[in-house]
Amino acid sequence: MASQQLRERLVSIVGPDGLLDDPYDLLVYEYDASDEAIAGSHQPDFVVLPTTSEQVAEVVRIAREFNVVVTPRGAGTGLAGGAIASQGGIMVVLTRMTKILEVNYLDRYAVVEPGLINLDLSVKTSPDGYFFAPDPSSQKACTIGGNVANNSGGPHCLKYGVTSNHILGLEVVLPSGELIWVGGSAPETPGYDLTGVMVGSEGTIGIVTKAMVRLTRNPEDINVLMAPFPTIESASGAVSSIIAAGILPAALEMMDALTIEAVETAFNAGYPRDAGAVLLIEIDGLREAVAESTEEIVTICKQHDAKEVRVATSQAERDLFWQGRKAAFGAMGRLTKNYYLQDTVVPRTKLPQTLKRVDEISRDYDLKIANVFHAGDGNLHPLILFDRYKPGDLEKVLNAGTEMLHYCVDVGGAISGEHGIGLEKKDHLTMMYSTDDLAAMAGLKQSFDPTQYFNPDKVLPSGSGCGEIDSLKEHARWEKMGIHVV
Ligand SMILES: Cc1cc2nc3c(=O)[nH]c(=O)nc-3n(C[C@H](O)[C@H](O)[C@H](O)COP(=O)(O)OP(=O)(O)OC[C@H]3O[C@@H](n4cnc5c(N)ncnc54)[C@H](O)[C@@H]3O)c2cc1C
Repeated sequence: MASQQLRERLVSIVGPDGLLDDPYDLLVYEYDASDEAIAGSHQPDFVVLPTTSEQVAEVVRIAREFNVVVTPRGAGTGLAGGAIASQGGIMVVLTRMTKILEVNYLDRYAVVEPGLINLDLSVKTSPDGYFFAPDPSSQKACTIGGNVANNSGGPHCLKYGVTSNHILGLEVVLPSGELIWVGGSAPETPGYDLTGVMVGSEGTIGIVTKAMVRLTRNPEDINVLMAPFPTIESASGAVSSIIAAGILPAALEMMDALTIEAVETAFNAGYPRDAGAVLLIEIDGLREAVAESTEEIVTICKQHDAKEVRVATSQAERDLFWQGRKAAFGAMGRLTKNYYLQDTVVPRTKLPQTLKRVDEISRDYDLKIANVFHAGDGNLHPLILFDRYKPGDLEKVLNAGTEMLHYCVDVGGAISGEHGIGLEKKDHLTMMYSTDDLAAMAGLKQSFDPTQYFNPDKVLPSGSGCGEIDSLKEHARWEKMGIHVV
């Protein structure tokens, strides 16, 4: 009965074609892009597809009134289970809010709705000489709202910085149902940096309904280089030498032999199948500087035993080199039934030893691991190949993944480089943060969402929810007194 009333109220806001509750329609919203065996799946009770900020705010107020949880969702390309409705309830899907509301080239910003597909913004502004720099490899599908929520990275974030560097302001619906603006186009926004708080908060403290984003000038010239190396070690050596030479490529991506096999089988991107690793390097900037850096990089790659260095001579060749990299995850289907995509980051100098450790873990657990990653900023993506129906495989995969995370944290890295924490890694946050640290984060969540109904079960470890904050603080107090409580 309550459910019928809730349905009617939701339909009164978004209209009958803005609500889904047929189990078949809901199937597609059970998952995100992570492997179900790792991050799980769960159907929402209702999917709503609002078209305005006011509708989002109304839906949130009704959810509050009916005491029902809310899960925001963009395109569902997330890789950590962040957009899974783990407790059912209402899923607010922003993909009908796709407008570019304002473009201001003089002040270099655009105001967009959250469901706008990342690439569509650059497609619109590039002919005028500007682009939106954060470029997750999923940029043909993922939304800007999702990018904000996950503080997403991408190949070009080595030079241009991750999403947080490109968000000037946000319109947000809070769990209270209020619609607020944080940040803005002014060079300085005094007061608490709530834009910084919202970016990367994974839909747990607000729903982004508009984003004011920075636009970046198109570079005068671009070169894309593809360099095959005999081993992953020689390619890693080249990465270190390029950075040590003071060159900052726009992108510096690495793929190992297993990834090359998958990509070539799927797409024929032109990567040599006998290479131990391939580096994809993009240099952009002023024409003379690009030419100079290209020459330097070719020399460095050859010093590190690159068999050849191919410089793309046409837009078509550039696109082909990039297609291989950007579609590498999808190409893994050629090699395996399932894969667990790890996302970790280490200081760049620790990359060679970390890759060695990943290789040891592969052998220890007798699991194939492919590597495709943003080498320039130390952001690793080991893909652990497995068969979820093979007894024991999943357990091995989870243990291997956890060992990698421990190693990365031990060498000064973090448990996620860009994909976020979501459902998948929330219990691993304790590897990086003390109970005091986590209690402070839980306090922030509680101040926005005291009843914990916004994207529940995400980010914070189990046991750090509303009711447990006091016990977390108590826990921290005991720890300070040297009393260790498990
Ligand atoms: C093939 C492939 C390649 C990828 N490559 C990269 C990469 O290079 N770099 C990278 O960082 N990521 C990458 N990803 C991961 C993913 O695409 C990004 O995290 C992306 O930003 C998610 O956007 P989305 O619209 O799909 O969000 P969803 O998956 O729908 O949601 C992700 C999170 O954001 C929240 N959310 C979504 N919209 C809003 C909103 N409007 N307000 C508040 N919260 C919201 C959700 O609750 C969830 O927690 C890749 C994924 C795939 C499948």
